[in-house]
Amino acid sequence: MIVYEKGHSLYLNLTNRCPVSCRFCVKVPWDYQFEGHDLRIKGPEPTAEELLDALNERLKTPGPWREAVFCGFGECVYRLGEMNAVGLYLTVHHPGLNLRLNTVGLGNLIWDRDIAPELALYLDEVAVSLNTADPKQWLDLLRPAPRYRKKGFAASRLFAELCVAAGIRTRITAVELPEVDLRPLKHYAQTIGAEFLARPALA
Ligand code: SF4
Repeated sequence: MIVYEKGHSLYLNLTNRCPVSCRFCVKVPWDYQFEGHDLRIKGPEPTAEELLDALNERLKTPGPWREAVFCGFGECVYRLGEMNAVGLYLTVHHPGLNLRLNTVGLGNLIWDRDIAPELALYLDEVAVSLNTADPKQWLDLLRPAPRYRKKGFAASRLFAELCVAAGIRTRITAVELPEVDLRPLKHYAQTIGAEFLARPALA
């Protein structure tokens, strides 16, 4: 399923690939199922046209939709071109929809450039899943792929700061875990002009 719904939001599931392997991730334990939706992408990842077809199918019938969210069981910024195409289309054709990205914040390392300015062309919000203010704990919790181990922690924080600077409403997020003191992360969010949200682990 490439578009699924939750509450007043339509979620876009662009990929199952991740640059990290979070300890708290339910993707594998839940066999890619989420609240009755099968989020395993079988075969090629969806094109922008396929995503827009699926979105427009939902949007053409009256519904409670207030938001479209780039968030599935994977890191959507791997599909930056498709995100840009879908996001820019939605800003023109469905200007009432709030557009959000949920990410681990490694997009600038993935693309080797600052992607915040192009995201700012269509995103209203970005939620950056940092989970801790401690670099060693970040490695332990997110278990990044080798390419991201050395620079990933700093890069994800810088990404959040660049999103704030680009004018995107930015939220630092964390999963509540007994071993993590979230107060320094909340303080960091306030320092850079971002919001902060802690959520219970899925179980
Ligand atoms: S970024 Fe999301 S989908 Fe990927 S490993 Fe972490 S929790 Fe799972």
